Amino acid sequence: MQYFITERCTGCETCIDVCPTDAIRIEKGRAEITIECVDCGACIRVCSEGAIKMQMVPPVLSDGK
Ligand code: SF4
Ligand code: SF4
Repeated sequence: MQYFITERCTGCETCIDVCPTDAIRIEKGRAEITIECVDCGACIRVCSEGAIKMQMVPPVLSDGK
């Protein structure tokens, strides 16, 4: 899973307050999710703007060995 923030973000910082790993920072007035994210989903639940989205990341394919 990968979380990302869309242009709907107003920079309100509400999501920062609930993130257990301090994975969100404000950059140029908009939130950004960093590699510290542990996919807990807390930020999505509190964002009143619906600015945080998630997408599935394709699995890494092995060579079958
Ligand atoms: S809670 Fe939503 S609108 Fe507020 S800073 Fe986070 S992503 Fe942006
Ligand atoms: S999903 Fe959880 S860990 Fe990741 S940025 Fe949102 S609140 Fe932080």
